[in-house]
Amino acid sequence: MTIAITTPEPRSLGAKAFLAAGPKKILIDGIWREAGDGRRFESFDPASGRLLAELAQGTAEDVDEAVASARRALTSREWQGLTPSNRGKLLWKIAELIDAHVEELAELETLDQGKSYKTGRFGEIPASAEQFRYFAGFCTKILGTTIPTSIGYQPEGKQIFAYTTREPIGVVAAITPWNSPMLMAAMKLAPALAAGCTVVLKPAEETSLTAIRLVELMLEAGLPKGVVNLVSGFGETVGAALTAHPDVDKVAFTGSTEVGKLIVGAAQGNLKKLTLELGGKSPAIIMPDADMALAIPGVARGIFSNSGQVCVAGSRVYAHRSVHDQVVEGLSKAAGALTLGHGLDPATDLGPLVNRKQADRVAGFIAEGRAEGAEIAAGGTQHGEFSTFFDPTVVTSVRPDMRLMREEIFGPVVAVTPFDDVEEAIAFANDSPYGLAGSVWTQDLSSAHRLAARVKAGTIWINCHSYFSPELPKGGHRQSGWGYENGAPGLDNYLETKTVCAVI
Ligand code: ADP
Repeated sequence: MTIAITTPEPRSLGAKAFLAAGPKKILIDGIWREAGDGRRFESFDPASGRLLAELAQGTAEDVDEAVASARRALTSREWQGLTPSNRGKLLWKIAELIDAHVEELAELETLDQGKSYKTGRFGEIPASAEQFRYFAGFCTKILGTTIPTSIGYQPEGKQIFAYTTREPIGVVAAITPWNSPMLMAAMKLAPALAAGCTVVLKPAEETSLTAIRLVELMLEAGLPKGVVNLVSGFGETVGAALTAHPDVDKVAFTGSTEVGKLIVGAAQGNLKKLTLELGGKSPAIIMPDADMALAIPGVARGIFSNSGQVCVAGSRVYAHRSVHDQVVEGLSKAAGALTLGHGLDPATDLGPLVNRKQADRVAGFIAEGRAEGAEIAAGGTQHGEFSTFFDPTVVTSVRPDMRLMREEIFGPVVAVTPFDDVEEAIAFANDSPYGLAGSVWTQDLSSAHRLAARVKAGTIWINCHSYFSPELPKGGHRQSGWGYENGAPGLDNYLETKTVCAVI
């Protein structure tokens, strides 16, 4: 099957101008420039193979300069001297600029990452603006406490006055993945800036374009120079240099568990603070009394959206034996109804995966599963001129020990397994090294909340899957990560508490 031989032209003038503007540069101290050694790498449209842009390939020396720039900006009058109210206004203005450029950003995201235009236009780009709006409100509400103490050894006639203050953690390295590039960058930049930190952003090498455009818009909004720096390039060079850098105070990372573990090692030198949002293999439990009119489309969206390239994708479905066949049939039908094509085509539901390597990886899981006895109820095929597309796929007869059931595939593949009672469903759901998210589908209120308490995961959805909002803390239990993004805990991860204890 051949899909999308050519790239449709973007319609927005902004996207056209951005692509026509030539090689993309790195930003240090408010100045866009080539990499120190002049090297570049390339970014392609995964649907058509068209070269989209050349980008500066940052080096460890570029990282040194970017970190020095962020360090200077941290205590600069232009940044530290900004009142909390003005910092909030600046974040709000960034949100407004994102909204004003929503078509352009959605088109760039589609071209660079592959996702359907509607996913960006109506989902991830507006959600990125909301990140800045939500955290803008925190700027004026970062509070310490006064603490009555029980210390009894102060000199006669003296008393104790103790309080806490909250300080920005310092220079943050933000390292983002390729699946939802703009949103992942916004989820780190917004709370970091609300807390008063400064940032060096390293977008994923596969999908750097919207991060670059976002940072341009941030400068347009009036962000002082050096507060956000951007070094494009590869994980093993730019990413590794940032995570080992002695003058970086914190790393905010979203990506694979494997790289998360490397970062834990690299961060040892100066004991950086870490927020790690890592892999997942999220279960969806469908009870016999579930409302199937909600459950089938909800579970299908939970796995197939963005072609399964979502960390919380519901890739393991456990359906009560009485509804198992109905679930397999319903998901297979939902899979078959999705239109694959170039993301800029308005008819497209699912674009390609981010590149050939990722599509090959998904195909590898399917081939191995088949050889081990798994059965394909729907999909299972890789295609497209550049072999970057993969059909939404439903698999049954997957044993708990198969890689198909244990590892994060990051593609549109769901395994459906029957269970006989609730204890078995919970045991299946918790049989994973991951603990990022999960969903339960039932009309029984008590059973819903009991299940929510017993499934080991950072987020549990009831009768929905992949519902996000900046107010809702998001973090991984077990090997799915450390710390939280979003909500008040998401801001805390960019702040340190100082306790002041005085004899007065
Ligand atoms: P994915 O599987 O989503 O590609 P990765 O964990 O490989 O996730 O990559 C996520 C981000 O981490 C990317 O920006 C990538 O460049 C970066 N990265 C990869 N390797 C390293 C590393 N050794 N140190 C720091 N960052 C890295």
